[in-house]
Amino acid sequence: MGKFAEADAAISKISICRRCKSRNKAGMKKCRKCGSVYLRAKKKEIRAKK
Ligand SMILES: [Zn+2]
Repeated sequence: MGKFAEADAAISKISICRRCKSRNKAGMKKCRKCGSVYLRAKKKEIRAKK
């Protein structure tokens, strides 16, 4: 879990297309934009400022 529960929940609902980098809903089998099946979950690590 990240520091921000709401953001963490929102991020976990998003998948990113490896091909065109468009956002898709988590659970989607194909990218809605290019039809690629190569989706990944959005990174959950929070990049904190130094
Ligand atoms: Zn795509």
